[in-house]
Amino acid sequence: MKRVLALLPFALLACQRPEEPARQVAWALAVHGGAGTIDRAEMTEARRRAYVAALTRALTTGRAMLERGGRSLDVVERIVRTMEDDPKFNAGKGAVFNHAGGHELDASIMDGRTRACGAVAAVTTVRHPITLARLVMERTEHVLLMGPGAERFADQMGVARVPNSWFSTPRRHREWQEEMAKKAAAARPGAAKEHGTVGAVALDRHGDLAAATSTGGRTDKRWGRVGDTPVVGAGTYADNGTCAVSGTGKGEQFIRHAVAYDISARMKYRGLSVEEAARQVVFEVLQPDDGGVVAVGRDGAIAMPFNSPGMYRGAADAAGRFEVAIWK
Ligand code: ASP
Repeated sequence: MKRVLALLPFALLACQRPEEPARQVAWALAVHGGAGTIDRAEMTEARRRAYVAALTRALTTGRAMLERGGRSLDVVERIVRTMEDDPKFNAGKGAVFNHAGGHELDASIMDGRTRACGAVAAVTTVRHPITLARLVMERTEHVLLMGPGAERFADQMGVARVPNSWFSTPRRHREWQEEMAKKAAAARPGAAKEHGTVGAVALDRHGDLAAATSTGGRTDKRWGRVGDTPVVGAGTYADNGTCAVSGTGKGEQFIRHAVAYDISARMKYRGLSVEEAARQVVFEVLQPDDGGVVAVGRDGAIAMPFNSPGMYRGAADAAGRFEVAIWK
């Protein structure tokens, strides 16, 4: 008995958990529809309203699911699927044109509970790349499938395929023509209007985080170019111990700096809040005009920093926060 009592303080010490930030809210959600120039002068009132309505719909859908106790993974997939069907965004229908005059789509999804993740790159006929990414995560032993192999997998899974031209819209075609003309004149890339990548991050009532991102990439990109969106740790990351992140902007920069993972790592190793970690990476690691992120911490705090003139974005949480914005 004496021995047992003597060991008690050590047993109690062993049971102590590292300090966990108190959960501020039961659930939290943030979405983006891409970062970039988003010229105020070019934006008609009707167009601005249409973007605000689309972001509001995404938040409303997610809020309803999360309030009912839905899982963050289902929420981020559902939101991104809806945005992939919306021609205003550069993901699924409305994807930008590549240099060959077609579309190559990238997407990824990550489950913060297990750190399971799935991604697809350069798919040309998959209507909902985010759903295929989730199937890569759940039905294969792999993380990333690309091109024709990913499309064969889509057929095996019964995932909807469409002709490549299904993704085309007159607006993206015009932007591609303008971009090519700009390059021909300046013999160097201009400030492409590639904005419109979509992403969602969520914390659910079970304390689980998830992130999802989907894109057509950058206007006039080389065929075969893959950006940050399907690169886990660059454009997407989720870990229940820290945060969930979805990025948008110049993908090459996000890959170089492992942006999404870096935000998580700063929280883990430096004990930073999600707001401070995301701020540091977006403003101190990335360059002006590179883009931005939406992130939610495991405590339910939301960060949406960007260093470009605008970023389509929205945030909602269980405490009643509900906001949509485009510029600073
Ligand atoms: N990050 C995407 C890419 O580089 C593009 C974007 O977010 O606008 O493919």
